[in-house]
Amino acid sequence: MAIYFIRQKGTNLVKIGWAKDPVARMATLQTGSPHEFELMAVGEGGAKEEHALHRRFADDHVRGEWFRMSGEIGVAVALCNPAFARLAALEPRLLDGARAAGGVDHEEGRPFCAAAEWYGWKGSGVKDHVTAFVGWLRKDKSVPELCGVEAYDIVYDVLSSILPGCRGCNCLGGLDGDE
Ligand SMILES: [Zn+2]
Repeated sequence: MAIYFIRQKGTNLVKIGWAKDPVARMATLQTGSPHEFELMAVGEGGAKEEHALHRRFADDHVRGEWFRMSGEIGVAVALCNPAFARLAALEPRLLDGARAAGGVDHEEGRPFCAAAEWYGWKGSGVKDHVTAFVGWLRKDKSVPELCGVEAYDIVYDVLSSILPGCRGCNCLGGLDGDE
């Protein structure tokens, strides 16, 4: 039994539900729809946890199990990753990065560049929310787990997966994991 977050690609719609097998659930959803979906995260929980999430994100409810992506949903998605959750327990400011990634402004049918959002070519990027707190740029070296390249990579992987994929942009391939 697990909680899942499934995004409809190219939109800011995310389905929050529970299933015995989220991968199979996603395949079923894909078979019955002309839209393309991606499994953003799988977390621990069942019906009870699903109800709690639905209540928590009620303001962003669209219909059925579908919600509008938000900064707080970004945080919930990030915390499904146990390695990220461990780092965030040591350094809660990392959650601001997840909030920024989840809350990016993007309009359906319009070009979007994940790399621009990450690096902040238009101002401050998602990356700027976390680089002072994790990896080699962290000044406070008292918690070694937060200072290594491994910790940075975990945060990068999770936050870049929360950002929507590049579409119709002119960057050279976007961030890792884009299609
Ligand atoms: Zn791009």
